[in-house]
Amino acid sequence: MVSKFDSRYLKLDKETSEGHYAQFSFVVQHFSTLPNWQFNQLYHTNCRSLPTSWEIEIKSEEKPSNSCLVSLSRIDYINRPIDAHIWVSCFDIHQRRLSFPKVFGKKAVRPYEKVQGNIEEMIPSEEMRYLGKGELIVEVSVSISLCHKGIMPSAVNLISGMKKMEFSKL
Ligand SMILES: [Zn+2]
Repeated sequence: MVSKFDSRYLKLDKETSEGHYAQFSFVVQHFSTLPNWQFNQLYHTNCRSLPTSWEIEIKSEEKPSNSCLVSLSRIDYINRPIDAHIWVSCFDIHQRRLSFPKVFGKKAVRPYEKVQGNIEEMIPSEEMRYLGKGELIVEVSVSISLCHKGIMPSAVNLISGMKKMEFSKL
């Protein structure tokens, strides 16, 4: 599968006082019976101090489909370490949370290193019963920190506005 940035999945992208936070969400149709599914997405921070690029991959394990592999790979070439975290949360179509968010993180991630983990049970079995054949909404949040410091709030708004314009051109 070719990975690319697809703005349909992006729900939030903001610069914080010391890093960047983005949120994506995607839908898995027929989650309880689907044998394989996969989500790939690129994320670029467009940071003024240390711009970094990441590939997010969430992939079902062979079987059972209630478990998945999560990875956040750094794919830029700038040889400076940076902290990265990824959270995965599950909801039904009524926005009801089905499980506690799972978080994976790592300090001092260098180019071509990754943060990764395995979620053995995305949804507890009792929630799985309620979900039935319905759609699962997976929300993925990424936090990249310690790339810059001390940006004034007005500049934060300006930068996030510019970033949205750049994304819309892709
Ligand atoms: Zn930054």
